[in-house]
Amino acid sequence: EIDMKLYIIANRLPVKVAGTNGKFVFSRSEGGLATGLDSLQTSYEKHWIGWPGICTNEEKDQQEINEKLQEMNFHPVFLSEKQIENYYEGYSNSTIWPLCHYFYAYTLYKNCFWQSYQQVNRLFCEEICRLIRPGDKVWIQDYQLMLLPGMLRKIYPELSIGYFHHIPFPSYELFRILPERAEILKGLLGADFIAFHTHDYMRHFISAVERVLHLDFKLDEVQINNRMVRVEALPMGINYESYHQASENKEVHQAIERTRKLFGEHKLILSVDRLDYSKGILHRLRGFATFLEHHAEYHGKVTLAMVIVPSRDHVGSYAELKTKIDEEIGSINGRYSTMNWTPVCYFYHGFSLEELTAMYYVADIALVTPLRDGMNLVAKEYVATKCDNPGVLILSEMAGAAVELTDAIQINPNDTEQIENAICQALEMPEEEQKQRLQRMQNILSVQTVNKWAADFVNELNATCMKNDMLR
Ligand code: UDP
Repeated sequence: EIDMKLYIIANRLPVKVAGTNGKFVFSRSEGGLATGLDSLQTSYEKHWIGWPGICTNEEKDQQEINEKLQEMNFHPVFLSEKQIENYYEGYSNSTIWPLCHYFYAYTLYKNCFWQSYQQVNRLFCEEICRLIRPGDKVWIQDYQLMLLPGMLRKIYPELSIGYFHHIPFPSYELFRILPERAEILKGLLGADFIAFHTHDYMRHFISAVERVLHLDFKLDEVQINNRMVRVEALPMGINYESYHQASENKEVHQAIERTRKLFGEHKLILSVDRLDYSKGILHRLRGFATFLEHHAEYHGKVTLAMVIVPSRDHVGSYAELKTKIDEEIGSINGRYSTMNWTPVCYFYHGFSLEELTAMYYVADIALVTPLRDGMNLVAKEYVATKCDNPGVLILSEMAGAAVELTDAIQINPNDTEQIENAICQALEMPEEEQKQRLQRMQNILSVQTVNKWAADFVNELNATCMKNDMLR
């Protein structure tokens, strides 16, 4: 088994590229997925296939990038600017993303999006075919590559293929709207094993398969020709220890001191997201504004630190959202600011991991209010970073993380009054209760880590494939 490989296929390689003029420098970027897979103990050699994050038509550049990446077991799939526009910003982020997040009115259907999506999935398929050897395994990540399992299955009837869906899978009533619903489902069913963050997403997938393709699931399995496809709910975790021990790190410690100084005696409410309409940022701001309106006793005593990481700014709906957020924050600050207090402290940029964990550590409250979210790692990271200091998580029941984090104050993000009340409840919660709730959530997060998630996925994939081998 020693020479066999596990290929992790994702839209984006876990790598940051710097440099220009044909000279490039590469560093690994530590997303949750990459961290989880790094620590995965397996006899398989791990390789990644994905887009390196830069567009270049120069043969020489591509060759140089390729050589550098090979050293890290990364295999680039080069995409043109047009493909990024139509496959990534188009079909992935303007058709599938809004549909899966129940933003039905935001979905765009364009033939060039769909054409490009098929084309790029084929490019990924070709790269896999070029590399793969008998006995290797393939683990495909996420909604940008839903046709890929089916394409591979046609070529390799016996290949082990896993797929993980990182975003919500919507109810059949939403999914049926998609013109290419049948092709997408058939594409996914090329896998041996398909997993989701929650049981609800899994149930929705099963019902979509049954109703669109007229196949029958027996519990978690469906038979297709002479093989079984199995589905499962496997919630992704975080690298718990690295967050939980973060405050011992010198840089984080210094950042904690700086953050404390900056916010002084104010109670600090923290919110952190990518710019996205699914994150409920405007609903959150309205909740906070209503809280200020009804609770003058807290004026000058509570600050909302709002971190928004720029994202997908080429997609129209995102640019509009940015303008609305700017206006809403401007309006709240204009109305309530005093010479020594600004209610919303707004950052439209990302932070280093050290600064981010320092904010998690210091914040009295984390306000996480997505309208839909596949999982939401920020909520988990906030809870994990707390050590013996208090803190309260306010969490939308529409986030996948709400299934595990039942000791958060859970709210419906569409209910402004509920957000307002949750902020009051959090501000008044006795420290002892805060710590008890954190402890119970930490018990869960420290077991269901991202390492365990990755190991569970690979074990389940292996078990399904062994069963299929016996059927043949
Ligand atoms: N994050 C980051 N830099 C920042 C703010 C956030 O790297 O300045 C990270 C954060 O630690 C988290 C991720 O971005 O791991 C966001 O993941 P989440 O599941 O909450 O939302 P997504 O962006 O995947 O929809």
